[in-house]
Amino acid sequence: MAYPAPLERLIAAFERFPGVGRRTAERLAFHVLRDPSARDLARAIDEAAAGTRRCRSCFNVAERDPCALCSDPERDGARVLVVEEPRDVEAVERAGVWRGRYHVLLGALNPSDGTEARHLTVGGLVERVRRQRLSEVVLGTDPDAEGEATSLLVLEAFDSAGLKVRVSRLARGLPAGSAIEYLHKGVLEDALAGRISLRG
Ligand SMILES: [Zn+2]
Repeated sequence: MAYPAPLERLIAAFERFPGVGRRTAERLAFHVLRDPSARDLARAIDEAAAGTRRCRSCFNVAERDPCALCSDPERDGARVLVVEEPRDVEAVERAGVWRGRYHVLLGALNPSDGTEARHLTVGGLVERVRRQRLSEVVLGTDPDAEGEATSLLVLEAFDSAGLKVRVSRLARGLPAGSAIEYLHKGVLEDALAGRISLRG
C-alpha cells in the first residue's frame, strides 16, 4: 500500500537532504505529522532562505552583501583564507586566530557525492585575486583527500590565469582526515602561524 501522495512528497523532500535515506526520511515525515511543533521547520526554512544571501565577494552566507567580514575595515583585506564551507569560517572566527578575510569554496572536489570543479567558487576566487590585488592566499581546505584535490584545483586555476599571488597552505600536523571545523583553537592557531609557502 502506498502512502498518501502529500506524505510521499514530504518523504521525497527529506530524502533530498544529504545523508538521509528512505528509512530516515519516512521517520522524519511521520515525526512531522505527529508533532505539531516540528512544523516550525517549514517557516524556519522559508525565513532562512528569504533572510540570507551569498556575499558576492567571499561567497559566505550572510544577511547582507557584502557580508560583515568583507566590509570590516579592521580586517586585513590583502590576505584571504580559503575554506570549504561557511561552517569553517564560523570555526576559525570562534577561535579568533585569523584577521584577514575569507573565501568560501562551497564544497570540495568529491566524485562520490558529485561535487565537481564547476560547483565550487574557484572562478570567483580567481576574479577576486585579480581585482583586489591580494598579497597572500592561504589554502585552508580540510586535510583529507578531497581537500588536497581541491587545493590543487585552486593552484592550477591560478596558474592558468597567470596570477602571481603568493599561496600558502596550513601547516602539516593537522590530524589526517579531520575537518577544519572541528579543530581546537591552539591547533588552528599553529596551523595558520606555521603555514607553508607553496609559491610566490
Ligand atoms: Zn563576504
